[in-house]
Amino acid sequence: MKHVPRKRFGQHFLTDRSIIDAIVKAIDPQAGQSMVEIGPGQAALTQPLVERLGALTVIEIDRDLARQLRHQSQLNVIESDVLKVDFTQMASTQGTTKLRVVGNLPYNISTPILFHLLDHLAVIEDQHFMLQKDVIERMVAHPCTAAYGRLSVMLQWRYAMENVLSVPPESFHPPPKVQSAVVRMVPHAHPVSVPLALLEELVRVAFSQRRRLLRHTLGAWLNAREMTSAFDVQRRAEEVPVQEYLALCEQVADQTCPTC
Ligand code: SAM
Repeated sequence: MKHVPRKRFGQHFLTDRSIIDAIVKAIDPQAGQSMVEIGPGQAALTQPLVERLGALTVIEIDRDLARQLRHQSQLNVIESDVLKVDFTQMASTQGTTKLRVVGNLPYNISTPILFHLLDHLAVIEDQHFMLQKDVIERMVAHPCTAAYGRLSVMLQWRYAMENVLSVPPESFHPPPKVQSAVVRMVPHAHPVSVPLALLEELVRVAFSQRRRLLRHTLGAWLNAREMTSAFDVQRRAEEVPVQEYLALCEQVADQTCPTC
């Protein structure tokens, strides 16, 4: 039976053969690698990937699509919400130390997926994702630009990232309302070690009022924690480089919880 794309699952299926080829080329799958695809849908990427890999794990929330995919013996189909999948556990079950993660992500939950993966970076080799172009622009943005924000800091902390390909709406059925792109994300080998939850809070507070000086937001937050710091709060959040947020977070962690 013909599948009717489901809006609630962000279903925009890739139909453009040359774009599919270009994405697979950017991923460069090699036989035997442990790869996981999020949201395989109707297998536009899945098929060329599994032909090269020999086997592939796919995570699909749509019951009907998951049923179709189970017909292919080379696929390990996990019918689930990706936000509930424990990638660390998956790597251990598969007897591997590193997973490559790919997908044309459902745009309605792309940011939660990116944050979910931050919890499992120890087992991730790299990630290639199709996302809204403006989300990728925010991910890779430099300080002092309008796109620089919470997503830039949180992800640049843990990944080297590059925008590898632009994809127009006509490449999908049905076409999304936005431009898309593919990002490559490679975890840093030695990231600055700070508590994820603390950095998230600090960055959220800093960017809560972009137009105001940080003394009104982060400054007040630091005062409430009785923090003494040379950090300059007479700036706007978008003027502060990632490394400075990380250094401040290290300092806060040391002063408020020296044993963490
Ligand atoms: N990979 C296919 C392609 O490129 O044509 C489909 C991509 S479509 C943009 C997103 C896919 O993710 C759909 O198959 C959808 O059912 C699936 N999906 C949506 N939400 C999901 C979730 N929370 N967990 C797992 N898969 C999800």
